[in-house]
Formats: sequence, structure tokens, C-alpha cells
Amino acid sequence: MPATTTPPGDALGQRSLVHQTPQLYGLIRTRLWAQVLIGLVLGIAVGSLLGESEGWLAPLWAERIAAWLALPGHFFLAIIKFVVIPLVLASVVRGVAAGGDVDTLRRLGSRVVLLFLAMTVLAVVLGLGLALWLQPGAGIDAGMPQAALTVGAGPVAPVVGPAVPPAAATEAAPLTERLIAILPQNPFAELAGGDMLQIVIGAGLVGAALLMVPREQARPFFELMGSIQAACMVVVGWVMKIAPLAVFGLLCEISARVGPAAILGLAAYVGTVLLALLVLLLLFLGAVALFGRRSPLRFLQAVREVLLLAFSTSSSAAVMPLSLSTAETKLQVRQAVSRFVVPLGTTINMSGTAIYQGVATLFLAQVYGVEIGLAGMLLIVVTAVGTSIGSPGTPGVGIVILATILEGVGIPAAGVALIIGVDRLLDMCRTAVNVAGDLVTCVIVDRWFGAEAAASGPEAAAGQQAGAG
Ligand code: ASP
Repeated sequence: MPATTTPPGDALGQRSLVHQTPQLYGLIRTRLWAQVLIGLVLGIAVGSLLGESEGWLAPLWAERIAAWLALPGHFFLAIIKFVVIPLVLASVVRGVAAGGDVDTLRRLGSRVVLLFLAMTVLAVVLGLGLALWLQPGAGIDAGMPQAALTVGAGPVAPVVGPAVPPAAATEAAPLTERLIAILPQNPFAELAGGDMLQIVIGAGLVGAALLMVPREQARPFFELMGSIQAACMVVVGWVMKIAPLAVFGLLCEISARVGPAAILGLAAYVGTVLLALLVLLLLFLGAVALFGRRSPLRFLQAVREVLLLAFSTSSSAAVMPLSLSTAETKLQVRQAVSRFVVPLGTTINMSGTAIYQGVATLFLAQVYGVEIGLAGMLLIVVTAVGTSIGSPGTPGVGIVILATILEGVGIPAAGVALIIGVDRLLDMCRTAVNVAGDLVTCVIVDRWFGAEAAASGPEAAAGQQAGAG
């Protein structure tokens, strides 16, 4: 009798994403990152020339031209947005169901969540520390003509995801209600509304349940999820062909709106946030070397495209499909790890946003002369961690979270108006760091997973290695 062979992947015969998306990897091989980088630089240059402060063109014309140039970018985002929800659903169900057994899943899940929490807390504390040390708000007082500080402030229009006005975030519901609201209740409503956290939790439940169902019964659903996943990745591969053009257009539109004057007025604040993000990125690279046992340079090389796209789109949710394939193909992370860590991280892990909350809150406290004691700082940490877990990875979310924190510690929420003009630029940078944080976690958890498998014997190691296939 011929032996039945399980294709590399996992117990249920999961195939590698690499084999499913030849277009995507073909493109990345031909130096997509360089094309994206060129698009980015050209976009900033053309956008700055079109910008209002340059005055070369009538503002109405400049706006129209920028809108047309941005069209491929909005096409790109619309298509990516179209595949994100089914892809998250399918990836988490398959990622969890491929975990092998409930014990492995429990161990992996609790470690990943703890790691994300630790990273977020560390990031807020680091942001607070840097702002305390550098005092970016010391030279600015709230009475300063606001026009000088808000030049270029336009509405922070989300490229992906719903617009949430800062005011909405300040009407905080009691904690008990917010905790209940995180749980999935109506799968159709949540899928239709794009509620990522509920979708990830619900898909995790279904995936875990599949582990308890007889294999033959689980297989059709598991395979359906695999087909959805494969089709979504092919669509991502198609749309990646216009990524450089999309980046050019999006950057053009943003640079035309946020002129250099807005950035100069808040140079100390912008500089402190950028420094904080750089420190966090360096810590991530250190963690890759120390805990992931990989070369930080190689890691950076592997993730450059996805970080450039995160920067250009300001949305970690939008680049989730690419983060997933980067983890699996370029970083060679096991599917059982990547399909769990990336969708979850995109939803609950925002260390770049968290470090920004620390700096921005203290900056505004310094501007308004509000004393923040130790208790206030603790409150900032708790609120920043809690709100960033429940918020989607979409543009401008960070400033909404900030409004909630400001209310909590008694800083006028109107302070948001002071910094909104430069928020888009900072949003782009923190999004790239958020995505880097998810990928760093993938690498670290993958190593723990492999070490554990090796310790529990060659058979387990072989089984888990198959998960990387
Ligand atoms: N845009 C960020 C993200 O998608 C969130 C934020 O506003 O900080 O990760």
C-alpha cells in the first residue's frame, strides 16, 4: 500500500504561501524596495512643489493635480483593504488549527500576548523618559499663536479604515463595557464592520475548535480557508505591481498638504518623536540579534519593502498581507507562528504608536504647564496600553488614542490641534515601527518554538519544522 504523504505545511496538509504567490515573490526579487523608495522620494519632491506654501500653482489646481496623482495609491489601498478581512480570518483559523494541539496553542498564545504587552509598556515608558529628558515642549507655550503651530493642518483623512473624530474617543465607556465589547458576538456584523480585534478573537476560537473536531470533519473547512488565503495572496501579488506608483501618489498628496512650515514650527516635538522611534527600532534590532539569533542587517534587508509600504500607507492593517508573506518567505518563520503572530500583532501590538503617546502626552503637558506626577505617568501607561490594544491599525488612530489619554490626565484635549499638522508624518514613521515590532516578535517566537521542539525530541522538531514549509 503506498504511503500517504502529507505535503509540507502541517497536519492538515497546509501548503506554503511561497508556492501560492509566485507573482509576489517574483516582484520582490526584482528589487521592488528600490522602486518603492524612488516613488517615495519623487512623491515627496513633487508634492512639496505642489504644496500651498510654494504657491506655484493656484491651490485649487494643486489640490486637483495631487488628487489625480494619488489615484493609483487609492486603488492600491482599496484592493488591499478588500482582501484584508478574509485574509485575517483565513490566516488566523488556519494558523491556530495548524498549531498541532491545544497545549502548544495555549503556550504560544500566552507568550505572544505577554510579549506584545511588555513591548507596549516598555515603549510608553521609553517615550515618557525621553520627553522628560529632552523637554520638547519647554520652549513653547499654549498662548503662542496657534496658527504658527498648525500650518498645514488638514483633516487627517484615513487612507484605510473609518475616520474616528478625536471627540469620539474621549467619551470613554466604563471599563467593564469596554471589556465586553472586545469579544466577538455577531460574526457577520463584525466581518462587515471590519472589527479586527473581534475577528481575530473569533477566528482564533474557531481555529482552536477545529483542533478538537475529528480530522475528516475539520478538513473541508480548513481547506476552504486555505483557498481563500491563496486567492487573497494572488490578489496582493497583482496589486503589488503598482506599489511604486501608489507610493509616489500617496506621498505626493501628503507632502502637498503638510508643508515644511508645519514641521519647522514643531521641530523639537517632531525630532523627539523621531528619535524615540529610532531608539525603539534599534532596540528591536538588538532583540532580533539577542533573542532571535539573527543578523539585524539581514533582518532589515528582509523587511525593507514592507516597512516602506507601511510608511507610505500609514496603515499596519493595510500591509498585513505583505507582513505575513515577508515573515514566511523572507524571514523563514514557521507558518504556525506567523499566521498567529502577524494578524494578532497588527491588531493589538502598536509599540511605535505607544512610544509616540508617551512623548506627545508629556510634550503637551509641558506646553500647557500641567504637572504629571508618578501616578499620572502610570495612568498614561495603562491608558496607552489599553487603548492601543483595542484600536485598529489605520491612519490617524494614534492621535485618537492620544485624545483619550489627554482627557485622563487633565491636559486639554484641544492640545491635539497643536500637533495635528505634523501628525501624518509621525503616523507614517510609527506605522513602520509598529510593523517592525510584529515581525521582530515573529522571529523571536519562532526561535523559542524551534528550541522547544528540539528539546522535546527529534520527532516534535520534525513536526514543527514542517509547519514552516
Ligand atoms: N497608523 C498606525 C498603524 O496603522 C496607527 C497610529 O495611528 O499610530 O499602525
